[in-house]
Amino acid sequence: MTNANILIVDDDTALLQALPQALFLRMQNINVDTSDSAAGALQLIRAREYDAIVSDIKMPGMDGLALLVKIRELRQNTPTLLITGHGDHNLAIQALRGGAYDFIPKPIDRDYFVAALRRAIQMHQLQRQVLEQQRALEEYAKSLELKIMDRTNELIKANTAKDEFISMASHELKTPLSSLKGMTQLLHRRLVRAGSSEVVNLVSMENSIRRIEVLVNDLLSISYIETGTLTLNCRRCNMGDLCQSLVDEFQAGVNPSPIMHVDIADDNIEANVDIERISQVVLNLFANARKYSPARSPIHLSLKRLDDHYVISVRDEGVGIPPEELPQIFERFYRVPGIEVQTGSSVGFGLGLYISQQIVERHGGKIHVESMPGSGSIFSVVLPLPVVDSSACEHAKSAIDRHS
Ligand code: ADP
Repeated sequence: MTNANILIVDDDTALLQALPQALFLRMQNINVDTSDSAAGALQLIRAREYDAIVSDIKMPGMDGLALLVKIRELRQNTPTLLITGHGDHNLAIQALRGGAYDFIPKPIDRDYFVAALRRAIQMHQLQRQVLEQQRALEEYAKSLELKIMDRTNELIKANTAKDEFISMASHELKTPLSSLKGMTQLLHRRLVRAGSSEVVNLVSMENSIRRIEVLVNDLLSISYIETGTLTLNCRRCNMGDLCQSLVDEFQAGVNPSPIMHVDIADDNIEANVDIERISQVVLNLFANARKYSPARSPIHLSLKRLDDHYVISVRDEGVGIPPEELPQIFERFYRVPGIEVQTGSSVGFGLGLYISQQIVERHGGKIHVESMPGSGSIFSVVLPLPVVDSSACEHAKSAIDRHS
């Protein structure tokens, strides 16, 4: 027990001398103040905090019960023990109901008195320790909160700087890449015309340029998405024609030309889409279907109308994706560990599906995947049909939600 401050209040001056002496004999590290009236006691209580207060119940003027009420107002946590007359059970019960910690019946048994006081002091000191720990914890929590706020601000700044860098770098790379592409195309035509065998080398250069173009385009798209500047330019379009032209474009651009099965169940599907962006999505699904399947493994494209929406599905017969990985594959920069590229280049940042999902969702649609390791994957793009007002194509989600 650390140093304890005790206050004894009694109008009986003999007892006021005897009780402290009894305490000094039996307890160490204590400081005892005395007062012969409740009024005097209140002055002391206002001035300092006691570990326990002992007061006679019957005193002239303000009695012990009234003093107890005041103590509870001033020092709610200070335990107060009231000295009651012999057999005065009613007063003792009143004292306990009024919030007294304990009562000491007269004649006072010194050992009982000291034991009761010791309990009260220990309880109060423990309470104080708990309060101090609570305060320290609160301070610590506050300082942690401030630290977290600082770190969050730093991260926001770093993230903004990263977005700015990606945006600047991808824009800066785009222009020289376009002229490089134009120049190699020109050179290609000239070499073909001249019948030069150098064409072969140029083709591998063109393939490298195409791969860099894929990466730069992914970075550009991500920069538009992250900065909220991905805008859609929706136009009326026949989806069957668009799908067929994308199949043709993909087959022409890849060597050897992939085997593709096309099933356009309805060639009358007219929709409002950003043709560039939806093409980007479908070509990305074709590229993935090829990348993650053995060479010459067929890729299936189907287009179907279902009530008020239509579905473009791209199916492959490749390596497939383990079920536990499926929720992650649409996250930024996520590439399934252990899935190796089977055909073509392994180029990719793990951004294609994230970008595709963002584009489809901006059209009010959804993108789903079903996959079985070893059997292949089906990616389905579900889009609303028809969207009457082209400006509404970003808000047409409800039609899809009803079917998902
Ligand atoms: P990446 O540039 O790596 O292809 P994506 O965002 O397009 O990025 O795809 C994310 C990951 O999902 C890929 O790295 C691959 O692990 C997995 N994945 C995507 N499409 C397929 C598919 N058709 N078959 C198997 N795995 C796929």
